[in-house]
Amino acid sequence: MTHTKNKVLIFLGPPGAGKGTQAQRLAQDEHLVQISTGDILRDHVRRDTELGQQVKPLLDEGKLVPDPILIALIRDRLADMEPVRVIFDGFPRTTAQAEALDMLLEELGAPVSAVPLLEVPDEVLIERIVERGRQAAERGEAVRSDDTEEVARKRQQIYREQTQPLIDYYGARGHLYHVDGVGTPDEVYRRIKAGLR
Ligand code: ADP
Repeated sequence: MTHTKNKVLIFLGPPGAGKGTQAQRLAQDEHLVQISTGDILRDHVRRDTELGQQVKPLLDEGKLVPDPILIALIRDRLADMEPVRVIFDGFPRTTAQAEALDMLLEELGAPVSAVPLLEVPDEVLIERIVERGRQAAERGEAVRSDDTEEVARKRQQIYREQTQPLIDYYGARGHLYHVDGVGTPDEVYRRIKAGLR
C-alpha cells in the first residue's frame, strides 16, 4: 500500500560536501529519520562489534564497505517503517546499492522523492575535511581515522569512480537537483529547501 506521507530523500555529493550537517537539519525540519551509513559503521567500530571489526580496516583506508553488507543494513533499518520518511546520507554509493534500494523501496511502496546533489569544488573539500579533523582534535574529541589529507584524497577518488555514476542514475529518473554547496551552512540549507519546493 502506498502511504501518502512517505518521503524518501537521498543526499548525493562528494566526501566533505556537508551532507551530514544538512541532512540532520532537514531531518528535524521535515520529521524524517536520518540514515547515515558512515555514522552507523563508525558506531559499530566504536562498539567493537563483529561488523565493526570487519569494516574497520576499510574505513581507515577510505575504501568502500562491500555492497551486500550495506544493503542488509539498510533493509534492516527500513523494515516495519510506516510511514517511510527517511533521508539517506552516504547511501547509496554504488550503482548496485542504488538498484537494491529501488527494489526495497518498491516493496515498501515508497519511491524516491528527490535527490539533492551538493556540489563543492575539490580543493574546498580537502580543506574542509582536514579542518574537521583538526577541530575535533582541538576540542579533545575523537578524530575520524579517515579525516587526513591522504585518506580524504583516496575517498574522493573512490567517489569519482564509484559514486558519481549515480548522478546519471538519478538524473535519468528525474529525481536529481543541483545545489551549490559553497557558503555558510545556513545559505546552503536555504538552497536545499528552495529546491525541494
Ligand atoms: P564521507 O565524509 O567520506 O562522506 P561517510 O561518513 O559517509 O564519509 O563514510 C565514511 C566511510 O564509511 C566510507 O569511506 C566507507 O568506508 C564507509 N561507507 C559509508 N557508507 C558506505 C556505503 N554506502 N557503501 C560503502 N561504504 C560506505
